[in-house]
Amino acid sequence: MFRFGLRRFATAAEAASPYGIKVSKAQGSVNGFVGAIGNTPLIRLSRLSEETGCDIYGKAEFMNPGGSIKDRAALYVVKDAEEKGLIKPGGTIVEGTAGNTGIGLAHVCRSKGYKCVIYMPNTQSQGKIDLLRLLGAEVFPVPAVAFENPENYNHQAKRHAEKTENSVWTNQFDNVANRRAHIETTGPEIWAQLGGKLDGFTCATGTGGTLAGVTRYLKEVSDGRTECWLADPPGSVLFSYITSGGKLNERTGGSITEGIGQGRVTDNLKPEIKLINNALHISDEKSIAMVYRLLDEEGLYMGASSALNVVAAYELAQKLGPGKSVATILCDGAYRYADRLFSKKWLDSKGLYEAIPEHLRKYIVL
Ligand code: PMP
Repeated sequence: MFRFGLRRFATAAEAASPYGIKVSKAQGSVNGFVGAIGNTPLIRLSRLSEETGCDIYGKAEFMNPGGSIKDRAALYVVKDAEEKGLIKPGGTIVEGTAGNTGIGLAHVCRSKGYKCVIYMPNTQSQGKIDLLRLLGAEVFPVPAVAFENPENYNHQAKRHAEKTENSVWTNQFDNVANRRAHIETTGPEIWAQLGGKLDGFTCATGTGGTLAGVTRYLKEVSDGRTECWLADPPGSVLFSYITSGGKLNERTGGSITEGIGQGRVTDNLKPEIKLINNALHISDEKSIAMVYRLLDEEGLYMGASSALNVVAAYELAQKLGPGKSVATILCDGAYRYADRLFSKKWLDSKGLYEAIPEHLRKYIVL
């Protein structure tokens, strides 16, 4: 039941709704799926801010229409191909991806009328394959072999595009249109949302597009004052690369965090890596515990890479000292990972059950 007439409600929309919910200034409608990408909220994480005496913020990328930060990159690589005349109406976008980029691309392709072809290692869950197929993508699960092997899913994606007319391999790792998405959108949004008061930024890398793009923008507008740090999971070589001044080790081991960790300096990272002040190495134990804390304390149901980013933001805040503000990325929700992150059996299999504080084990329900 409306207590106010609609006209009255519309004019009051910038203050408060009659239901006690603060309504922000109306932005008007957006055009289609791609119009809904970006302009995500920046969430102040209250308990973690209180604990550190700093303001810690998470950019709510899980609120993008495809559910992750990768919607931005997906849109930019497709737009880049269009602008360069590499693809014409009805063409095909091909990518090698096991995760969020594929989902973002599948959505963008549907909304723009392109075909979408995804190559992925056949070790990935049936759930991911099903989701991509129901979004209209053609999926090729191929043997999971190293990047050096010509049968690796990335090389197969490239070859598929080469032999298909009106087709583009979007090459998310080395296509710098990916980084540009974050120079032109993610970085400016964070800076504007904080009115230019930002002392630190940190996030993990998969392709490196987010870290490189946001760092590039923040360094420019802050005159180099915003500290930008890499957050790296076990099994990634970038922590040691940055902290050793450029020594590239062999990749060994792995992590529970999906979508992040890197074995090389991608073209997206290369031009900006010298701008990155330092790096934090974040263990799986800390990341998984933060998945549960975010849920319990903030009501945020986040995937492991978001949790790792928040741990890094917390540690960076402690290093910068009280009164500072630090931002990071909440990359995606826990929905696609719930059967692992909240399963006793899975946690035991990774030796991570003990990492969950006792009072948070009530969330282990699967
Ligand atoms: N978190 C998740 C869940 C991801 O899927 C990705 C992308 N693979 C990232 C973080 C890292 O983003 P980027 O590729 O921009 O480094």
